[in-house]
Amino acid sequence: MQTSSQAELAEAYRRPEERPTRRIEGFAVAGGAWATTVPFPSPLAYSYSYALRYPDGLVIVDLGWDSDEAWHAFLAGLSRAGADLDEVIGVVVTHAHPDHYGLASRIREHTSAWIGAHPGERAQIRVDAAERRARLAEITDWLRDCGVPGSLLAELDGELGALDAVLPTIEPDVELQDGVPVPGTGGALVPVHTPGHTAGHLCFHERERNLLLTGDHILPKVTPNVARRPGSDPDPLRDFLTSLGRLHRIPDSAVVLPGHEWPFDRLSRRVDVLRQHHHERLAEIEHAVVRGCDTVWKVAEAVSWARDFSAFTPRSLRSALAETSAHLIRLAEEGRIRRSGCGPERWTTEQSDPTQ
Ligand SMILES: [Zn+2]
Repeated sequence: MQTSSQAELAEAYRRPEERPTRRIEGFAVAGGAWATTVPFPSPLAYSYSYALRYPDGLVIVDLGWDSDEAWHAFLAGLSRAGADLDEVIGVVVTHAHPDHYGLASRIREHTSAWIGAHPGERAQIRVDAAERRARLAEITDWLRDCGVPGSLLAELDGELGALDAVLPTIEPDVELQDGVPVPGTGGALVPVHTPGHTAGHLCFHERERNLLLTGDHILPKVTPNVARRPGSDPDPLRDFLTSLGRLHRIPDSAVVLPGHEWPFDRLSRRVDVLRQHHHERLAEIEHAVVRGCDTVWKVAEAVSWARDFSAFTPRSLRSALAETSAHLIRLAEEGRIRRSGCGPERWTTEQSDPTQ
């Protein structure tokens, strides 16, 4: 059943295009559920950490970027919710990216709470230095294989140290599985495995409060990044589209609490928009290959982006290449294009015509 505060919230967040871009500091979501904005140095500006109260204590869904500023925002959010760090019994994460998992080391240091994630997130977590070095070397090889020009490759390589600094290193204590309720929630909080953004991505359905916490699987405005890169599943876009279908049982009255941006309702409408986006994006990328763009880099340069491709930061550039690559592999699996060589990886179609 929908509570009145949920109905008000759903109304307040009804039209994403009318939402102000200002940061919302934190707010009550439903009886005993709170959202806190945690600063994140990216165009998204912040991620959400949600606190859900149960008879045994608080369960946190997602943490946020690892910085002193983020930690203080997290603590301030708890105190606005009238809660104490000591009351946190467990933390679950939708996925192990640093803007959702970054504060895990501070949680480990300051609380006795357990940390839960899907085992598929193991590939995101690098515990020892050798493993981290191996991951960074894989990324360099992958960028070369995408056909990134030599001069830029050196620049991207130089920036990998910054990536190393944010790779998560805390191993979860609890493995969360699809459909198996989160411990300590009396069966109310249920993980839904939604691979695509990452292999072990989870959404959480809060059945008693009629909430769906979507992490980066579904955001109200931005299209979540679906990336093929070292450590990802072989066909992440197929996974992502299948995962959209896994949410069909969630009622449209549910308040959707995403990892960024703002809450919204009418989930099915947003799912339709995302499906349509990828349908059109696949056609655009296929067309680029037909026109003779034969590497991931050339395709990424040729297609449209929300911002100027030539001004992308190294992190945005890696995401753009990984997303382009995810669409290329999906097109190949659908038999619309084929991979015709490597070093760098080449893409072609029967109708490729570089003179077009
Ligand atoms: Zn995120």
